[in-house]
Amino acid sequence: MPAHRSQSEDIATGFARRHIGPSPQDIKGMLRVVGADSLEALVDQTLPAAIRQPTPLHLGQPLTETEALAHMADLASRNEVFTSLIGQGYSGTILPAVIQRNILENPAWYTAYTPYQPEISQGRLEALFNYQTMICDLTGLDVANASLLDEATAAAEAMALAERSAHKKTKAFFVDREVHPQTLAVLRTRAEPLGWTLIVGDPVHDLQKADVFGALIQYPGSSGAVRDPRPMIAALRAKGGLAIIAADLLALTLLASPGDLGADIAIGSAQRFGVPMGYGGPHAAFMAVRDSLKRALPGRLVGQSIDVHGQPAYRLALQTREQHIRREKATSNICTAQVLLAVIAAMYAVYHGPDGLSEIARRVHRRTAVLAAGLRKLGLPPHNESFFDTLTVEVGARQSEIVARALAERINLRIGDGTLGIALDETTTPATVEAVWRAFGGALNYREVEPEMRDTLHPALKRTSSFLTQEVFQAYRSETELLRYMRKLSDRDLALDRAMIPLGSCTMKLNATTEMMPLTWPAFASLHPFAPREQAAGYHALFAKLEEWLADITGYDAVSLQPNSGAQGEYAGMLAIRHYHAARGEAHRKVCLIPSSAHGTNPASASMAGMDVVVVACNNRGDVDVEDLRAKAEQHSADLAAVMITYPSTHGVFEEHIREICDIVHGHGGQVYLDGANLNAQVGLARPGEYGADVSHLNLHKTFCIPHGGGGPGMGPIGVRAHLKPYLPGHLVLDGTDEQRHGGAVAAAPFGSASILTISYIYILMMGGEGLRRATEVAILNANYIAAKLDPHFPVLYRNERGRVAHECIVDPRALKNSAGVTVDDIAKRLIDYGFHAPTMSFPVPGTLMIEPTESESKAEIDRFCDAMIAIRHEIAEIETGRWSVEASPLRHAPHTVHDIAEEVWKRAYTRHEGCFPAGTTRTDKYWCPVGRIDNVYGDRNLVCSCPPIEDYALAAE
Ligand SMILES: *Cc1c(COP(=O)(O)O)cnc(C)c1O
Repeated sequence: MPAHRSQSEDIATGFARRHIGPSPQDIKGMLRVVGADSLEALVDQTLPAAIRQPTPLHLGQPLTETEALAHMADLASRNEVFTSLIGQGYSGTILPAVIQRNILENPAWYTAYTPYQPEISQGRLEALFNYQTMICDLTGLDVANASLLDEATAAAEAMALAERSAHKKTKAFFVDREVHPQTLAVLRTRAEPLGWTLIVGDPVHDLQKADVFGALIQYPGSSGAVRDPRPMIAALRAKGGLAIIAADLLALTLLASPGDLGADIAIGSAQRFGVPMGYGGPHAAFMAVRDSLKRALPGRLVGQSIDVHGQPAYRLALQTREQHIRREKATSNICTAQVLLAVIAAMYAVYHGPDGLSEIARRVHRRTAVLAAGLRKLGLPPHNESFFDTLTVEVGARQSEIVARALAERINLRIGDGTLGIALDETTTPATVEAVWRAFGGALNYREVEPEMRDTLHPALKRTSSFLTQEVFQAYRSETELLRYMRKLSDRDLALDRAMIPLGSCTMKLNATTEMMPLTWPAFASLHPFAPREQAAGYHALFAKLEEWLADITGYDAVSLQPNSGAQGEYAGMLAIRHYHAARGEAHRKVCLIPSSAHGTNPASASMAGMDVVVVACNNRGDVDVEDLRAKAEQHSADLAAVMITYPSTHGVFEEHIREICDIVHGHGGQVYLDGANLNAQVGLARPGEYGADVSHLNLHKTFCIPHGGGGPGMGPIGVRAHLKPYLPGHLVLDGTDEQRHGGAVAAAPFGSASILTISYIYILMMGGEGLRRATEVAILNANYIAAKLDPHFPVLYRNERGRVAHECIVDPRALKNSAGVTVDDIAKRLIDYGFHAPTMSFPVPGTLMIEPTESESKAEIDRFCDAMIAIRHEIAEIETGRWSVEASPLRHAPHTVHDIAEEVWKRAYTRHEGCFPAGTTRTDKYWCPVGRIDNVYGDRNLVCSCPPIEDYALAAE
């Protein structure tokens, strides 16, 4: 690395200067406003001295953007892209270039936040609605959610759904032995702490005898076999269990749908609909259920409602049932999901339409049938008589010789016990099929074998029901039209490419373009997660370095990159604690203390890990009530497993007592789980592993620049102290390697959504240790600057003893409810008229707003935001002084749309200009949200979560 630059020069001129919003000049002015002499002085007033890290980060010299890309190209060259015919839930696929460039590589899509403010999220909500429609149609079920993390976790969620819906005494669940092994591993992890037994077997013979609350059947099976699930489902039904089918979306275009076969739930992966394998992810998983189960469905659900003008509008349906919000009563902890990938999969279906999808499926199936005919000629007939795209061949002692020949052809096969598996996909050509034959020992010609092919789709299982008849899946066959459709949707949304998104606890910082580039390079995008390790040397070098850096940043001894979201990291961390206690003969330690201010995922994750949650109070300063914690730790001393604490707290403050809290819990034999979602306030300044915590997750999609994607992807790696290292998540493909670990797998792939780890890696590479520390300092400055500017108008709720907030602040408009009848919702919607996304509403304190600017927002943008907030306060004052009633005020009518401004006769108490172009907004660059305020109650009463098929319109017209 070049040694000629000094680190401080790098901050002034290097990438850090581009990542950090305020200029050195701005920083000086802002320090004056907050009343601190320097950044160092501000930090000293913000963090307790007792937790400051003694040594700087050891991350090396930062690279420039050009150097970083060259470095990534070098890593990429150490990965080798073979043709992977491994299957097992991951397939080669062709991402249409128009979707790659205009969605996956387009910040209008990837920098958006979860659509909690639906009026400014209509584009991605429509795309997700299309996704739900596609899943409902292909699975033949009534309601689908808007994605889950991966197929294996979707299976675990489905098992849990079956357990709570089947109302059976038995705690046993049946798993088809044809289920993908990584899915089985995640099911085992989920079942163990809840005391459920898994019975693995052949459903045709073994299901009859088993008393179970449900069963998971893979369709087609992992070996490729297509079996008729109807008798299995009937056997299950007879004893009151729920039937779950793990299905392949492409196969469902030709095969009878799970709904038609009688299943209650369908799950699976939408990866092969255009989403690159990415050495494990990210990909969207799906779940669809019968209507009667819809209220038990985990994850987010997009529904159609109406706005104030009576126009149709989308929003998240049944939001209060969003699982993690139900805290320890939650049955799932899913929060961040896989929105961007669900959008891509839906657009893939929009691009191809039902005929295009069926044609792809038929071609893949035909190639597989030709492959089978050739293998029969070679004396190696496949196991399965009936298949879709996957064959399994008994090869016995010839296995290693065939595998070696396949590798020489640059082909990966699935290696079983004396068997080899071959899974084809839409990228398979006749040349690939011929190369497979050569590997199996015969020089056959595709054209010559083709006539001997037999159609082996199960005759009783051919799909007869139509699908994707809705207009959106018909209208966009021309690229011009599709491009405009995607543009139309993204124009409806407000993402980071338009304005600051000041959501507290979400850390919506810059997702630099350079950071986003390598993940779509084929050398990162096209690797199968179970490809031989030698083909992924670049990836493994990146993983090792990233683990080392994250360990240095957090002060932990070991890191697991497996969890696919923050909440999944919490779950993995709590499981590590559980295993640790059990290994010491203290399996009875199950009590987990959680402060009342915690994010809802904390208690949900603790419950999933088999813990009993005990809530600890907060005092009126917003800090954890140390005396209450001490009393509860003492009361539960014998059974204390852990505390889960967020630091700095969800109240946006570095509490003085963190070390004491850790000591109290350790003194009673418990472990400290420190929620690292707020790591952006401490990178380079303090290390959780040094001040008393045992394990944390890191939301790489917050602090480490993975874009939020409209609600995912994310990554939630965990760091642990050495004593917990043996209990980090394991994985079947890691068995026998250095990384072998004894905790159960929490995700389908060993390194989670590996391809997006490149983003965080490049970020650290370009920032260097000093750049990262400076970013943290400026994040703290920006938050304190906002607190200083807004406090006279909206009081800042919590600060530390020296009057400082951490990287975010809570402002409190609750008094305005009494003085003017204004709700936090009114303020949030009015901010849209000023061109802003609202801050986090009502978390962690109901009725308040939590604001997090991050280091990436410039002084100019922060000023614009503060000015908007202050102008809104003035509008509220007009209510207080009686100019308008709240009902007649622009706040209650917000957000204003073109429908408002175009009203023929203006009968409002304020002018058109005041309503539509409030102080400081420009007419030229105005963001118009497409719909007015949305009626949530109407939508929940009239639940519509997918587009009706076109025939329904025809019926209605008759
Ligand atoms: C974001 C967040 C989480 C959950 O992370 P996901 O990645 O959305 O699962 C947990 N705790 C806190 C404090 C958070 O802000």
